[in-house]
Amino acid sequence: MTSDPPIDSQQELRELVAGARRHVELLREEGAIGGFGSAPELASPPPRIPPAAAPQPVATERDDSSKAPTRPAPAPAPSPAADASPWRASFVSERGSVHRSAEQKANDLAALADAVRACRLCRLCEARRNAVPGEGSPTTRVMFVGEGPGATEDAQGRPFVGAAGQLLTRIIESGMQLRRADVFIANVVKCRPPENRDPAPDEAAACTPYLLKQIEIIDPEVIIPLGRHSMRVLAGTGEREGITRVRGQIFRRHGRAVIPTFHPAYLLRSPEEKPKAWHDIQLAMKELGLPLPDPKKPPS
Ligand code: URA
Ligand code: SF4
Repeated sequence: MTSDPPIDSQQELRELVAGARRHVELLREEGAIGGFGSAPELASPPPRIPPAAAPQPVATERDDSSKAPTRPAPAPAPSPAADASPWRASFVSERGSVHRSAEQKANDLAALADAVRACRLCRLCEARRNAVPGEGSPTTRVMFVGEGPGATEDAQGRPFVGAAGQLLTRIIESGMQLRRADVFIANVVKCRPPENRDPAPDEAAACTPYLLKQIEIIDPEVIIPLGRHSMRVLAGTGEREGITRVRGQIFRRHGRAVIPTFHPAYLLRSPEEKPKAWHDIQLAMKELGLPLPDPKKPPS
């Protein structure tokens, strides 16, 4: 229907970072988060994103939140804070609304990865050895999204390469019969939280625009959040919802299927939960039209 405007990646990335900063500023002004302390680049308010530059249409949770097939009720209206968030309004794209060639996708992901490696938007930049932008196929139909890099990932600059990553790789390769290089693996925060603590709300808020931009660029059909942090960002579930209650279902978000499951690190600690995760992975496989393996047992 609409003709696609040319995509200026550098301009987009400048807007992305400006939008993320503005978002963090708004949260800070509202008292939702504390300050970053020494973050000189946040001292002056960044310019607002011109409305014309925003990808569209913009879907809020009201538009497409359906916990199909059992929960038809619309989600509550976004809070004023959510309405005022430029990154939300500007960077959550409807599937298929922005068209890129495979080459553009690869170039845009590489430019985004450079921006992540140079990023100092939150305090997690201070202790990182390497930022971990994410890796995989720019044209994949399925993305996995974890919480944040651990020690091994921080050392290598690659996502999910430690023990939990090895289990994730087995789920992808032995379970789904895909190659790891043929999916995309990312995280909510791109720099390691010290001592593997949970990402703080301001850190997740600062970093989420990068993830949303990766989703826009790759434009996957299926997104599999691993664990509750990623689930909250991508399925839009409330702060108090846990992964145990929420997993096992498909959330329709912005034209995509979001299928949360347990984090592989949790599965390593609680192997008796693997059949549930395997159930979720098979939901994703059905959504993608992939053949289900026989026998249908979880990868160990
Ligand atoms: N855990 C995560 O959430 N992400 C990684 O990249 C590694 C471990
Ligand atoms: Fe930037 Fe994200 Fe790293 Fe924070 S965690 S410094 S927002 S890339």
